[in-house]
Amino acid sequence: MSISHHIPARLMRAYAAGSLPASFATVVAAHVSVCDECRARLEAEEIAGGAVLENLNPVGGDEARLRAAVLARLDDALEAPEAPAPEGHGIYPGPVMAALKGRAPRWKPLGAGIRQTILASGDEGSLRLLYIPPGAAVPDHGHGGLELTMVLQGSFGDETGHYGVGDVEVADDSLEHTPIAGPEAPCIALAATDAPLRFRALVPRLLQPLFRI
Ligand code: ZN
Ligand code: ZN
Repeated sequence: MSISHHIPARLMRAYAAGSLPASFATVVAAHVSVCDECRARLEAEEIAGGAVLENLNPVGGDEARLRAAVLARLDDALEAPEAPAPEGHGIYPGPVMAALKGRAPRWKPLGAGIRQTILASGDEGSLRLLYIPPGAAVPDHGHGGLELTMVLQGSFGDETGHYGVGDVEVADDSLEHTPIAGPEAPCIALAATDAPLRFRALVPRLLQPLFRI
């Protein structure tokens, strides 16, 4: 797999610290599961995070107690048995299979041949799979917050570049884009948002509450 769009450093740091919302964390986990480069960067972040705790300077008694408590809890965390990592299936990496609860996606039509499967949805945003027929476009839209999109099959291109299998696009409120699926196969992508997308055209905007995108 030749991956050219990776997880940005600030997102990787937040992921390593456990402070990313669950929908974004699933996209990062899915990418890390197929990208050796980002897996190495994540391990470096985790080691750096641990080193920060080791180097806490115990000046007063409170800080020494805090440091001991933090390190003790870290030891507990390390000794706790880890849940077995979910296995990937076909084009879906393990973290996506976990979000699908081991089942095949249940696609819902969005019009123009585009389909989606909502994996999680709430006030903080959503996680979904998108199916875009070859050459089809996702309506032109801006973003109220952050959007992470990882390609699982096929490819798409937009104003910012070309994204193939494994690539992650990071879009924020400064970007309005029209992703278009590549001609070679339907594009299937995992997309996480932390705010409802803002569609420019009237009809998609009217449909938005209906489809929860
Ligand atoms: Zn990567
Ligand atoms: Zn977008």
